[in-house]
Amino acid sequence: VDCQWGCPAHTDVPGYIRLIAQGKYTESYMLNRESNVFPGILGRVCDRPCEPVCRRVRVEDEPVAICRLKRVAGDLKDDFKDLLPPIPEKKNGKKIACIGAGCASFTVANDLLPLGYEIDIFESLHETGGLIRSNIPKFRLPPSVIDEEFDVIVEQGANLHLNHPIESMKDLLEQEYDAIFVGTGAPKGRELDLPGRYETDQIFVGIAWLESVAFEHIDSVGERVIIVGGGNTAMDCCRSSLRLGGKDVKVIYRGSRDRMKSSDWELEPALEEDIDLILNHSPEEYVVEKGKLVGMRFAELEWDQDDDGRLTSKKINEVIIPCDTVILAIGQENSFPWVERDIGMEFDQWEVPVVDPVTYESTVKGVFFGGDSAFGPKNIIEAVEHGHQAAISIDKYCHAKPLTDRLDYG
Ligand code: SF4
Repeated sequence: VDCQWGCPAHTDVPGYIRLIAQGKYTESYMLNRESNVFPGILGRVCDRPCEPVCRRVRVEDEPVAICRLKRVAGDLKDDFKDLLPPIPEKKNGKKIACIGAGCASFTVANDLLPLGYEIDIFESLHETGGLIRSNIPKFRLPPSVIDEEFDVIVEQGANLHLNHPIESMKDLLEQEYDAIFVGTGAPKGRELDLPGRYETDQIFVGIAWLESVAFEHIDSVGERVIIVGGGNTAMDCCRSSLRLGGKDVKVIYRGSRDRMKSSDWELEPALEEDIDLILNHSPEEYVVEKGKLVGMRFAELEWDQDDDGRLTSKKINEVIIPCDTVILAIGQENSFPWVERDIGMEFDQWEVPVVDPVTYESTVKGVFFGGDSAFGPKNIIEAVEHGHQAAISIDKYCHAKPLTDRLDYG
């Protein structure tokens, strides 16, 4: 089925929608949970790669609302804890460390706890959820939904160590773990180092700013806000700005609408809230007068496409757009300052560990990566699937079986 194939975790979409139609919400939730683990969360904020391939779009304009139906199952289910796989009292003697308390690590724990593994999860923040807690605004993903779906895995026996940053992979390797899983996300927002960048304190990096908003370290913003970027983080930043007092909030992107990375279902609510979207403008300078940010200078661009599809831009004008605050949402990067470079782990040219795309093992045996920390920023449901695949590999590794001996993809 196309939608099931489109979902990275291969959720049984027709099956769970059928159960909803029969009023069997708890069963529908559990069927979801088998593959995507966090139906309540994903029913609100999944990137929905299943919907564009829904067969319904061959005969109608819109796909089936697959994502939102997952939320229906999540909201209307009854208590499901008795339906979870039992956790054996006698453990299998294997101990796994998961770094980061986000969806990827919790999927690993979810899959390995019923097999008798002991799981330690280490998190530098004071709460679970990782980037979904710190980067997705509460009005889109209420903390209670995160708590419910993460707590259930802790209740099943995962040992959670909050406020516990791991500062050295070398030290961790010396501890008595049988395998290590790294699910620390891509926690570093990209900088935009233009003239004026460090002359004011009113320029913020999007994901760090969203984290400060989530943990209530920031509760206000200037009246005129510019968000630079065109992805989903830009949408979260602009809608959050409105809620923190922004009156004139603009999202400014250097290309055309069809090149923006934001999904339609992220952009549309922003436009409905009267966010101003300005396209084909490339930032050139932060305009700071006497230490105060007063605007941003942009080049207005015109794009040309050659016969090979290559795009080139031409500057046709220059404008200064007044603002009090700038938020940069131009991408995220991985950051592994805590992984020593002399432990035999290979890194690529972007300083990201080399990870096998099938087994999720790094070049250090027994150390696995998943989620955004494996292959750069993707999305939640990809992170869940990475967690499943890494859990399969960890189980094989701990039992000295070949990691590549696994079922075909899908
Ligand atoms: S988890 Fe996401 S991709 Fe998978 S079926 Fe649900 S909405 Fe679609």
